[in-house]
Amino acid sequence: MAVQHTWKVAGKEFTGKITVLKAIRQHCIDCSGGYRREVNRCHITTCALHPFRSGKDPSIKRKPLTEERKKELADQIKKLNKSKTKKLALVHEPKYAHE
Ligand code: SF4
Repeated sequence: MAVQHTWKVAGKEFTGKITVLKAIRQHCIDCSGGYRREVNRCHITTCALHPFRSGKDPSIKRKPLTEERKKELADQIKKLNKSKTKKLALVHEPKYAHE
C-alpha cells in the first residue's frame, strides 16, 4: 500500500507515493550518505532493515522466466522502443516558417 508522503534523502526532499519497501530503501540510501551502491555493500547485518535494503521482499520467491514469457517481454520492449522512436521523430521534425 502506497501513501502520499514527503521525505528527505541526503538532504534532498522528495514528495510522492511511497510504499513500505520503498521507504526502507530510501532510508538505507540516506543512511549510506546518499550513495546507492553503498546500500548494497552495507555490512551491518544486525540492522533490522538489512534484509530489505534493496527495496525488495526477500520472502517472495520469483519464478524463473519461461521461454514464452521472455518472448512476451522482448516484444513489449520492442513496442516501447518503436513508440519512443516515433515520439523522438515527431519532436525533431523541422518546422518551416511558411507553414
Ligand atoms: S541496512 Fe541498516 S545500516 Fe544498512 S544501510 Fe540500511 S539502515 Fe543503514
